[in-house]
Amino acid sequence: MTAPILSVDVGAVVANWRSLAALHGGETAAVVKADAYGLGAGLIAPVLARAGCQRFFVATADEAIALRGLIAAPWIAVLNGCPAGRENDFTTQALVPVLNSLADCARWQGAARAAGRALPALLHVDTGMSRLGLDAGEWSAVLRDRSCLNGIELQFVMSHLVSAEVADAPETAAQVARFAAIAAAMPDVATSLANSSGIFLGDTARSDLARPGVALYGGNPVTGQPNPMRAVVTLAAPVLQIRVIGPGETVGYNGTWRAARRSRIATIGVGYADGLPRTLSNRLTARHDGRVVPLVGRVSMDLMTFDVTDLPDIVPGAMVDLIGPDHAVDDLAAEAGTIAYEILTSLGQRYRRVAKSV
Ligand SMILES: *Cc1c(COP(=O)(O)O)cnc(C)c1O
Repeated sequence: MTAPILSVDVGAVVANWRSLAALHGGETAAVVKADAYGLGAGLIAPVLARAGCQRFFVATADEAIALRGLIAAPWIAVLNGCPAGRENDFTTQALVPVLNSLADCARWQGAARAAGRALPALLHVDTGMSRLGLDAGEWSAVLRDRSCLNGIELQFVMSHLVSAEVADAPETAAQVARFAAIAAAMPDVATSLANSSGIFLGDTARSDLARPGVALYGGNPVTGQPNPMRAVVTLAAPVLQIRVIGPGETVGYNGTWRAARRSRIATIGVGYADGLPRTLSNRLTARHDGRVVPLVGRVSMDLMTFDVTDLPDIVPGAMVDLIGPDHAVDDLAAEAGTIAYEILTSLGQRYRRVAKSV
């Protein structure tokens, strides 16, 4: 019997990257942090590089080193910066840190002195996220005395939007205004602002380098509107067993679903250990040949159960689609009470990940 299969349409990822680049109208990177949002950077990054993507973002140093093993030439930037003591890894493997504080700048200057050459970096200035990046005080200090950047080849000044997926969000306008002032103070440095949703804000968030992530993988960047991206992920699992229960019998831990009639229950071997959250209990609507297959009872660690009383063709070995053409990752995320990002990045290590042929 086949195992649960996570199929990744890498051709659709490339098509999504191209359409995002066309919409942005300028250079467009690919954010492949968290193993390309759980789908497998090894499947995706080399294909994007071959398609012409020259800039990649990851979150951590270890992700960057793993990615360097997959793609030799392209530029790799590290959003969380260069951890103290890892400067040598960065210079020898041509990894570019995002400098998120004045302390980061000072340390990268030290690395440049040690290397005897200017070292490339991005400078992240916080415009409202209150997470990473120079705060307002640090940015003022840079404006007063730019020597804190001496020896650093500043390639981009960047910031990150708080609510890019919300139409007409006032905080976006405020951030864009702050970022315009920051960019104006550094006229010789290229800019980077939009994430996936930011690209759909058009001129509002246009910069020299866009940084899309989730939209590459088929997540909907325009909340509340039809998804403009091509679907990338299908997730299917075979039925392990069918059992028939009588009226009044319950299914799963704590008996949260009780049969009102004689019912056929199908069990598949996927659970919350595989990244399908327990909040999907009694909520997930899987599909089989386009028909809805309702999950009943609790999601357990390695199993889930479906009421297939009205679907007599579902027998052991039949495939149940958890994510697919009629039930996108955003639909499943909504049923789980979360976002596509969290679903994708939680998909566990027990799936067979296959690249759907281009
Ligand atoms: C994750 C991340 C992105 C990509 O965001 P998406 O919403 O997935 O497009 C871009 N920039 C930064 C700083 C990020 O952390």
